[in-house]
Amino acid sequence: MYSELGISPEVQEISRKIEEKLADRFSKIDRTAEHNQLKVLSSMQKNRLQEGHFAATTGYGYNDSGREALERIYADTFRTEAALVRPQITCGTHALAVALFSCVRPGDEILSPVGAPYDTLQEVIGIRPSKGSLKEWGIGYRQADLLPDGGFDYEGIRSGIGPKTRLVTIQRSKGYSDRRTFSPQEIGELIAFIKGIRPDILCMVDNCYGEFVCEHEPSEYGADMIVGSLIKNPGGGLAPVGGYICGTEECVAQCAYRLSAPGLGQEVGANLGQMPALLQGFFLAPTVTAAALKTAVFAANLYEGLGFSVHPSAQAPRYDIIQAIRLETPERLCAFCEGIQSASPVDSFVTPEPWDMPGYDDPVIMASGSFVSGSSIELSADGPLREPYNVYFQGGLTYPHGKFGIMKSLDLLYKRNLVKL
Ligand SMILES: *Cc1c(COP(=O)(O)O)cnc(C)c1O
Repeated sequence: MYSELGISPEVQEISRKIEEKLADRFSKIDRTAEHNQLKVLSSMQKNRLQEGHFAATTGYGYNDSGREALERIYADTFRTEAALVRPQITCGTHALAVALFSCVRPGDEILSPVGAPYDTLQEVIGIRPSKGSLKEWGIGYRQADLLPDGGFDYEGIRSGIGPKTRLVTIQRSKGYSDRRTFSPQEIGELIAFIKGIRPDILCMVDNCYGEFVCEHEPSEYGADMIVGSLIKNPGGGLAPVGGYICGTEECVAQCAYRLSAPGLGQEVGANLGQMPALLQGFFLAPTVTAAALKTAVFAANLYEGLGFSVHPSAQAPRYDIIQAIRLETPERLCAFCEGIQSASPVDSFVTPEPWDMPGYDDPVIMASGSFVSGSSIELSADGPLREPYNVYFQGGLTYPHGKFGIMKSLDLLYKRNLVKL
């Protein structure tokens, strides 16, 4: 089939050799998926998930039993008191903005102890001037950068915490930066340090791309809120839209009042017929995340073997599904993305081009031929056109598809003479 689909014999051979060495890694990923599958299953059973929960509601959505079951299932799986999981949350950035705005008041400050946050959050916070930002509402921002070795700068964090500090925002995944992704345990140590200084400071974790990669989430290590997008890991590829905020009763209530309106909170929000997709997607999410992880591990080993700097490195443990590959030239970055695009089930015939995306500072090229538009738990690759031309690759609903996408990317680089095999 690989020959029929145009993959060069050299690329097939090198891929076969790489994959042979990955059996142990893959079985560890399967173990984690097994654990997480049972976590999700037991939450569904505990909350007596039933056919009636799949019914669509419209209008106000008072007493929406499907929505309530979904939120209980998320809360139990992520071991939090409460959860807000809604199709009305339009994306990860929206979920994070809701979480940030809901828990601070004018005059407060927030602190990022892990360096600059994800590009779109910079506008939410007002690091880059933006209409409606936290800054416009009189909420200050401080940042403690990571140390040169990638660790937390505890002294910098201590001095960044002042009497006005209300919330600390911790991004688990590296996003579009060159740093490490933090494990839930490491995040737990950071949270313990912060709570040791001031126990009333709220700790929010941007958990995007991290769900189900480990057996535990940052909410099990003291986070007051974890936040993410349903068109990434926890939607399992089936959720067509949505975001989640899981955390303490108090935080989730604040978020619900912000998302709907004061006085209404979690009581409104019709499910619009999305319950089957959101529930079934959550059920599939542990194994879908495992497929994406295997794809990332395969890619890291393949490209590192060819002399590229990859991040995380081939052998490194993983705490999110993103794989960065330093491609060093715009030609390679574009070719990689074209290869991924051409391997997609949807829109395989189109050519991705760099564009100025809302919320991002540099032109970004994105390859995404997904069933859910823009979904990045599906095979997708993107990167901002700036040095060192990192491609950030993620997703793969199934490992065979993810592997094929990576092979296709390498094949295109090879055929364009951008890499030697
Ligand atoms: C994807 C992502 C976001 C934003 O999510 P969108 O759904 O793209 O708005 C925020 N933070 C991190 C770390 C992400 O990976």
